Amino acid sequence: MPDIRPTAGSGALVLNATYEPLCVVSVRRAAILVLSAKAVCVADGEGILHSARNALPVPSVVRLTRYVRVPYRTHIGLSRRAVFARDGWRCAYCRGPAETIDHVFPRSRGGRHAWENVVAACARCNHTKGDKTPAELGWRLHHLPAAPKGAAWRVLGHRAPDPRWADWLDLREPETEAA
Ligand SMILES: [Zn+2]
Repeated sequence: MPDIRPTAGSGALVLNATYEPLCVVSVRRAAILVLSAKAVCVADGEGILHSARNALPVPSVVRLTRYVRVPYRTHIGLSRRAVFARDGWRCAYCRGPAETIDHVFPRSRGGRHAWENVVAACARCNHTKGDKTPAELGWRLHHLPAAPKGAAWRVLGHRAPDPRWADWLDLREPETEAA
């Protein structure tokens, strides 16, 4: 019986042979990499994976045994979940829990669907705002929206990072990053 909680966020961080973070894969995929000697486990997760012949600690971080050349994906896709993750699931206007996406300069008036013009917002602020701009309402944005940057975003996207990955990813809060 596999002794592993099938949580939605369960995955393993894959590092290149150089320890550079590459991507997140399923725990099962990471275990296959380790069992086929394509990777070594560098940090265990919780639990043990059992197969017909092997028992293996659940891998949390694995490192490829051979270097792979990977082109960088510099553009981070704009998705609803990614906006929530960037904004910490907080409303950009009142800092309450965010449930909706707001276009700061309204789309109905030509506002762009771009990282610089979308923020997470609570339903109340979004409804009140309607097709007005924050300036017209005398509202202020908590921070200026921008496209997310950095290795953590490249690898994780909107995924919540496992604390065990912190040694390999730069997981500083976006607010503390230099502009
Ligand atoms: Zn709000």
